Amino acid sequence: MPKDFLKDAKPNYDVIVIGSGLGGMTTANILAKSGYSVLLLEQHYKLGGMATWFKRPGGKIFDISLHGFPYGMVKSCRRYWSQDIADQIVQLKGVRFDNPMFSLTTTYNRNDFTNLLCNDFGVEEAKIKEFFDFARGMNFYDDQKITTGQLFERFFPGRQDVVRLLMEPIVYANGSTLEDPALTYGIVFSNFMSKGVFTFKGGTDQLVKRMHQEMKDNGVDSRINCSVESVNVERGKVKSVTVNGREINAKAVISNANLSTTIFKMVGAEKFDKDFLDEARDVRLNSTSTQVYMSLKEGEQVEHSTGDLLFSSTSKEFSTDKLLSREITSRTFSFYYPDLRPNPKNRCFIVSSTNANYEDWSTLSKEDYEESKRELVENTLDALEEYVPNCREKIDHAEAATPLTFEHYTRHERGSSFGTKFEGLGVSRGLPEQIQGLYHAGSCGIIMSGWLGTINYGVIVANDVDSLLMKQASSVS
Ligand SMILES: Cc1cc2nc3c(=O)[nH]c(=O)nc-3n(C[C@H](O)[C@H](O)[C@H](O)COP(=O)(O)OP(=O)(O)OC[C@H]3O[C@@H](n4cnc5c(N)ncnc54)[C@H](O)[C@@H]3O)c2cc1C
Repeated sequence: MPKDFLKDAKPNYDVIVIGSGLGGMTTANILAKSGYSVLLLEQHYKLGGMATWFKRPGGKIFDISLHGFPYGMVKSCRRYWSQDIADQIVQLKGVRFDNPMFSLTTTYNRNDFTNLLCNDFGVEEAKIKEFFDFARGMNFYDDQKITTGQLFERFFPGRQDVVRLLMEPIVYANGSTLEDPALTYGIVFSNFMSKGVFTFKGGTDQLVKRMHQEMKDNGVDSRINCSVESVNVERGKVKSVTVNGREINAKAVISNANLSTTIFKMVGAEKFDKDFLDEARDVRLNSTSTQVYMSLKEGEQVEHSTGDLLFSSTSKEFSTDKLLSREITSRTFSFYYPDLRPNPKNRCFIVSSTNANYEDWSTLSKEDYEESKRELVENTLDALEEYVPNCREKIDHAEAATPLTFEHYTRHERGSSFGTKFEGLGVSRGLPEQIQGLYHAGSCGIIMSGWLGTINYGVIVANDVDSLLMKQASSVS
């Protein structure tokens, strides 16, 4: 008999959350803490979504999306998770850039960037201040019109080098480009600039383990290997979900899965207004990624001076197309030293990440796909040689993930690393106006993506759901 992953699940819950990404888990945790009965359904055999890790024999453990997030995570984790989780968040002090335009190391905060821009790039201090203040002051209602490219042109005309310094890490942090609304840049950049780049000491497995425990303590009924097939709607209201062939009722359903999948596959287009559907069809997905995971042999170490995060590029100029191209010129290397990323054999791990186009991988034959993965690993080792001399002798394991890998494990359409482009946010927020009790809390709109963005979006949606359920309760009594 196959295992019943829904054994003892109740027929009715106040809330069902579909997906256990950071956004889904945060919503589930807050609502359970507020006293609602919550069922969390995850199709994968692990909780965490993109916030995940995998192991290989010999004590090797690789993090997928633990490269860096803003300081705001401390406050969000303390308020909505636990002091214990917040206490594990530490700063990455060695952020490096190495490209044909400049090579430098920074703590990646406003002070250091002001000094760098002033002293190394020769930008007038007043202009730098004006730029930082403008970026910090951007808000959702007023600042959707100009693009990030236009923002840079306004403050630093013709300064490709300055644009590269200001933009490259943000491309990796949320997939945004020079062509996206400047707001998507301004918010995320300012968040990082407040104090620098932070990480979770102990690794993603420890974070998700603690979050799981916290959810358990608060009464969330979380289930893995439970794939939601549909969200069922009756007379304009959410009624239930169908999962592993079983129907379970809820007053509110929150999807943490991909926004388009939620609308078109789980709920069904026929349940929405035409205008809403037109808007939803126009939502573009964000870019995807490739990664190469490498482990050093036991006893081999990388010098700490190599840095924690290294934005390396061999491209003479900075452009969106170049960053996504199959002909890789830009890589972000994350170095995981055993003090921050403990592991049984005290190994050092390195992950190389590059933004990518889905089609460059999805259209390959099986043989070409395997060959391309091998090439990706080899080219990455060649590039790493510059920073870790003789790396091929020191490394005992290297393997690659592609957009198809991300799509496979998280079901994000086209392996999108950061959900949807900006226009997705309005559609995500509009769901409950279409169907009472239906919400989306997952990466979207660029701003609500990344670890901090999705956690904060989970908080916003939990508050919306709480208001609805309180209203329903008061109208019954
Ligand atoms: C390579 C890479 C590097 C990244 N690096 C960083 C970084 O350094 N810093 C940072 O802040 N962010 C980073 N991110 C982004 C960050 O990881 C994500 O934005 C964030 O984790 C997404 O959380 P989420 O809540 O949107 O859900 P997701 O993580 O997208 O999870 C959605 C969940 O829903 C589940 N699901 C889908 N369909 C169903 C279904 N039908 N039934 C049940 N469950 C379902 C999936 O299995 C998944 O677990 C990176 C992402 C990638 C891919």
